[in-house]
Amino acid sequence: MSRVLIVEDEEHLAAGLKLNLEAEGYDAEVEEDGQVALERLVASGGGFDAVLLDVMLPGLNGFEVVRRLRAAGQFVPVMLLTARSERDDVLRGFEAGADDYLPKPFDLSILLARLQGLLRRHTWLRGTHQEDEGPDEFAFSGKLLDFRAQVLRWDETEQPLTLMEATLLRYLVRREGQTVARKALLEEVWGVREDTDTRTVDNFIARLRRHLEAEPSHPRHLLTVRGVGYRFVAEPEEQ
Ligand code: CA
Repeated sequence: MSRVLIVEDEEHLAAGLKLNLEAEGYDAEVEEDGQVALERLVASGGGFDAVLLDVMLPGLNGFEVVRRLRAAGQFVPVMLLTARSERDDVLRGFEAGADDYLPKPFDLSILLARLQGLLRRHTWLRGTHQEDEGPDEFAFSGKLLDFRAQVLRWDETEQPLTLMEATLLRYLVRREGQTVARKALLEEVWGVREDTDTRTVDNFIARLRRHLEAEPSHPRHLLTVRGVGYRFVAEPEEQ
């Protein structure tokens, strides 16, 4: 049974979510305060499988909770529930290390689909899936991607990756040299069909470029294919 922490200070919404998640077979618990939730997540040491995290919270806001969680080395999948769906807020959430976001108000069916998607990706990344998704490690241009450990290593550096960063990279690396459409990424990496906001994909690519590229504004590995999507190139030709 997957264990989910709901961090939400609107009592009715929190109670409704808990009830619905339990009806779907999840073990769901609620915290109302950001600081308390952060301490609980850090203390649990990976005891939760996913977190649904409201942004406007007493104690500590959702962005700070996820940022401090990542800084503490905790990479539990986090979905932000944001009342303000403006682009800047979404970007801030991803910057902080969130894996997905859902603007309020949302349909319960969409929330459940997204949550299932996050948990499925988590399992898939850990290599307990049935599909052939290629090796657990990938070396390119002096760097080593370790998908199981969710880290990118080069020289003496270890860059931890969030669940969705690692999942997206694994998907692109598996299709090295091929152009992949944004919509295909949304459907196959995020497991989302109802939603057509492809900015999610663009934001993640921008984040990954900061990890992978010597010059993120002039990418050589994660290339934009205008009007279509993206292509991963392991060993670009010398310029
Ligand atoms: Ca709130």
